[in-house]
Amino acid sequence: MPINYQLEKENETNEQSYVCDICSEAITNPLCPFCLAVEIEAWLSLYPVLKKDLRPRLKKYLSRINSRITNYGTECIKCKNNRAFVCTYCFTEYVFNELQNINAGKLVLKEFFKFFNFDLGHAGYTKEAEELGVAE
Ligand SMILES: [Zn+2]
Ligand SMILES: [Zn+2]
Repeated sequence: MPINYQLEKENETNEQSYVCDICSEAITNPLCPFCLAVEIEAWLSLYPVLKKDLRPRLKKYLSRINSRITNYGTECIKCKNNRAFVCTYCFTEYVFNELQNINAGKLVLKEFFKFFNFDLGHAGYTKEAEELGVAE
C-alpha cells in the first residue's frame, strides 16, 4: 500500500507541467535565465564593447526576476535551482532586443541566433530571423 501511494505521488509530480511566467507556454528546456546569461556573457567575450553595454541590461533583467522568484519554478537542468520559470525563448528574445538596442551588427545578431536559438518556431522570432537570413 505505501508503495502504490508513492508511485501515485511520483506520477502526479511528473504530470505537472511548468509554464513560462511570460508567454505561458510549457517549459520544455528548463535552463534558467541565470545560467543562460553566463553563457551569453561567455559568448560576448568575443565582443568586449557589446559586453560592456549589454551586461548592465542583463543584470537589471535578472535582478528584476530574482525579486519575483518563488519556489514554483521548474528545476534548471544546469544549476538545479528551481528558478527556470521563464522559458529560454522569452529570455533570449529579451537579449536579442537589447542587442538591437545597443546596435549590435547583423553578423553578431546572426551569431546570437546560431548559438542561442532554442526554439525558432516560437511565435515572434521568425520574422526577425528571416530578415537576418538565419531561418530555414
Ligand atoms: Zn516564455
Ligand atoms: Zn540554472
